[in-house]
Amino acid sequence: MVQPALRTTVIGSYPFPGWLEFASRNLEEFGAADIEEMQDDAVIAAVHDQVAAGLDVITDGEQTRLDFNLSFYGYIEGIALEAAPPRRFGPPAHDQRGRHEITGELRAPRGLGAVEEYLRLKRLAPKGPVLKASVPGPYTLSGRLVPNGRYPDRYAITRALSPIVRAELENLVAAGCREITVDEPSMSCYGYREDPERFVDIFFRTVEPVIGNCRLSTHLCFGNYKGRAVGPRSYAPLFPAFLKLPVDEIHLEMASREFAGLEAIGDIAGAKDVAVGIIDVKSYYIETPEDVAARVRRCLRYAPPERLSFAPDCGLSQTARWAARAKLQNMAEGVRLVRRELGLA
Ligand SMILES: [Zn+2]
Repeated sequence: MVQPALRTTVIGSYPFPGWLEFASRNLEEFGAADIEEMQDDAVIAAVHDQVAAGLDVITDGEQTRLDFNLSFYGYIEGIALEAAPPRRFGPPAHDQRGRHEITGELRAPRGLGAVEEYLRLKRLAPKGPVLKASVPGPYTLSGRLVPNGRYPDRYAITRALSPIVRAELENLVAAGCREITVDEPSMSCYGYREDPERFVDIFFRTVEPVIGNCRLSTHLCFGNYKGRAVGPRSYAPLFPAFLKLPVDEIHLEMASREFAGLEAIGDIAGAKDVAVGIIDVKSYYIETPEDVAARVRRCLRYAPPERLSFAPDCGLSQTARWAARAKLQNMAEGVRLVRRELGLA
């Protein structure tokens, strides 16, 4: 399928409305039907904001991953609910997020929930925008599981999770999903101390059955839990190995890094499409449409319009909704400004 030039897209997550966050902390007060209704309403809100902005590609905003049981980990058998995080007070950081103990064989007989999310999005979204599903890759998913005797290190856990993610991707395609992002931000965060060829091999094994059956992309950022990054924020360690990733599009975080190393998008565009993060999800400066247009023009120095998509740097879940909404609107408007300059409808 031919993609429109200068496409606007998003990374999966969108901020929870305040009422949803409150409800997610008090789920025991709700019945199963109440929760179903709440999940639909939350997806309707996230879809509304993305459609109002005029995006070409939208997601469900990951609005239904309300708690452990509804998260990917809640679908995986053989793990125990996270223990209290090692640090519970003080400034926000990754160590305030608990890790899960492995208690048996890692299996997901009910899948990971992404198919249900996609079908809900399809039921609730208007005709027009492309509907995208996001699934974490096995290396990223393994990061919150604690190795044990059976799975002695992160790679052993990753190898066990890879077929689980692979089955989810196959089921998404079977359900009619035609655009899937496999999120692997842990690969970009830790690429500086790992073998990027090994990452490419893991990725290939995971996505192999769906290559060519959907538009496949990956999201590589430097972490955004509570708006904080992890690891040295350079893509250099991943390339050129990652040019071999079997995807149609690679997404890179650029805005929060002041577009350091932007010329790398030229190399990527020689092989596949590139989605550039041109909205800083960590900053409360709201980029204007003119700011966005200037950033798009800068990207055009390195890559042709038909190879370029634009998105925020990461999912917007850690950005207040008023800011997320304004940023998406201005992103889409800024891209439209350049489309008009170039005579692209
Ligand atoms: Zn991210």
